[in-house]
Amino acid sequence: MCSCVDTGPPHAQVCSCVIPQCLQRAMQTLLHQLFHTRHPTFIVLHLLLQGLVYAEYTCEVFGYCQELEFSLPYLLLPYVLLGVNLVFFTLTCAANPGTITKANESLLLQVYKFDDVMFPKNSRCSTCDLRKPARSKHCRVCDRCVHRFDHHCVWVNNCIGAWNIRYFLIYLLTLMASAAAIAIMTAAFLLRLVAVSGLYQETYLDDLGHFQAVDTVFLIQHLFLAFPRIVFLLGFVIVLSLLLAGYLCFALYLAATNQTTNEWYKGNWTWCQHWPLVAWSLSAEPQIHQNIHSHGFWSNLQEIFLPATPSYKKKKK
Ligand SMILES: [Zn+2]
Ligand SMILES: [Zn+2]
Repeated sequence: MCSCVDTGPPHAQVCSCVIPQCLQRAMQTLLHQLFHTRHPTFIVLHLLLQGLVYAEYTCEVFGYCQELEFSLPYLLLPYVLLGVNLVFFTLTCAANPGTITKANESLLLQVYKFDDVMFPKNSRCSTCDLRKPARSKHCRVCDRCVHRFDHHCVWVNNCIGAWNIRYFLIYLLTLMASAAAIAIMTAAFLLRLVAVSGLYQETYLDDLGHFQAVDTVFLIQHLFLAFPRIVFLLGFVIVLSLLLAGYLCFALYLAATNQTTNEWYKGNWTWCQHWPLVAWSLSAEPQIHQNIHSHGFWSNLQEIFLPATPSYKKKKK
């Protein structure tokens, strides 16, 4: 039943009036199941979208491009990138991100220094009852503490941590490259088609009965009517490439500066909480998180691709 006597934020009251409470509860349960429990829904969705994009590329763009005598290595490049991407996708999904256990907690406690701001010494995870190494975090979705925790990724249904972030970065890079390769091949096909047909030199009759030279808007409309799925595919992969390129730049920035997403988020949040103190009082000395783990660009990248593991530390002793 609808209830209009709820107290709480105005938007919550509006929601409770418009949406029945049983439906609200069902939506909350669904959102909780989707984003706070481990399940393969997003992996299936990911593979389905990838399959649809490649099916459209194979069934239409590839064939037309061959007819227009495009170079075969360029046409096959998206498939090579898909193969590499699927290998690293599987590795990211299946690899242990750095689960902290009774057996390895002592060794992992020695890997990173404690900064006593974001990562205090001698703290314990209240859920696992394990001592927390610096840079680790308990993932509520997977219900485990993860060494050098970055974030939990629903698209791979796994945490991203010290031992699988290298796979994740290559997965991200090849996913962006495959989307960009398909976008470039599809755009090249449409441009070649326009050039071969000489369409841009034609004129058309507008609504008022006047002859108009073909312009870009008319060309896009014409191509959309002639090849709707290909133009939709092009729009989708362009947007996807830009989003992935933006996220990849962010992930590479974090890797180059030796920060995790968790630390970047917490660091920015701490700064937002304390900046009025810093701005208005010179005597205030809030404890702001400092990045003490960065040791230069190459050293930071080496840490991503050659992470310290318990067995590695054992060998060094
Ligand atoms: Zn824990
Ligand atoms: Zn997780």
